[in-house]
Amino acid sequence: MGKIIDGKAIATALQERLKEQVAYFAMTVGRKPKLAVIMVGEDPASAIYVRNKIRACEAVGVTSEAYKLAESTEPAYLENLIRKLNADNSVDGILVQLPLPLGFNAKKIIPLIDPKKDVDGFSQMNIGSLLLDDKKGLYSCTPLGIMQLILSTGVDLTGKHAVVVGRSNEVGKPVALMLLQHNATVTICHSKTKDLGEFTRTADVLVVAVGQKKLIKGDMVKDGAVVIDVGINCDENGKLCGDVDFESVEPKASFITPVPGGVGPMTIAMLMANTLKAAKGNVQ
Ligand code: NDP
Repeated sequence: MGKIIDGKAIATALQERLKEQVAYFAMTVGRKPKLAVIMVGEDPASAIYVRNKIRACEAVGVTSEAYKLAESTEPAYLENLIRKLNADNSVDGILVQLPLPLGFNAKKIIPLIDPKKDVDGFSQMNIGSLLLDDKKGLYSCTPLGIMQLILSTGVDLTGKHAVVVGRSNEVGKPVALMLLQHNATVTICHSKTKDLGEFTRTADVLVVAVGQKKLIKGDMVKDGAVVIDVGINCDENGKLCGDVDFESVEPKASFITPVPGGVGPMTIAMLMANTLKAAKGNVQ
């Protein structure tokens, strides 16, 4: 039987530790860390993510400042807001909720965020820091959370074969680099990979970040694999489901994350960790 990795419990425990560290920061520095969250438009999923991020700030004692801009906002206004927040010393972290509405170019907007305040870790500078293993950088939250979940199982990644399905800049590529830094042998698969199962069946650790419901079936997974399901999809009954067919994969996995309650809560906990890290960097 597979063992469920309880992302919610691990994230809650991490947030408890962060709460103490944030309180210590506030006591020694004389102010709380501050996160500015910018959302443009009314995308309902984004609104839920933003609400959860603001709630997490409240839970760990981080001050949050939400900027809700109408879809009709001129891109120049958003660009100026980012420049203003970059220059504001009381702001430690800046997050622009993606996706941005049509008419906004995220590739142009995200690089405007000061890398030291880029708590999502999406800027070129921070991705470069990850590539070069420069620990001072702010790394992408979901991959950071995935690594915490994998390490929580006690598995030693050295020499293990890790297969990452998906090569997005936000999840697939950075998590592959992190696995490499932990001495795993890493294979990255994507939509052009021929015979996906041939690769996934050799994985000791399988990370799936694709965005296609239940793509990975039990016969594509090796006995005893650690399986991390990043996907957030709706099944035929409108229920949340992952990229992994939990029913057929769970009996084969040694450890597996559920959807919901796996990677999702960790992403937000790591955002809080990054905000504290940025705040510490901002007072030095
Ligand atoms: P993207 O759409 O940016 O990337 C998807 C990747 O999957 C691409 O690299 C694509 O390949 C690959 N892919 C698509 N179809 C297949 C296939 N049939 N076989 C193999 N590879 C395939 O998605 P993200 O990385 O941003 O997100 C992936 C999933 O994770 C989504 O469901 C998203 O909602 C979820 N997510 C969850 C988070 C959380 O906190 N839990 C955070 C972020 C994302 P190619 O490059 O060739 O197109």
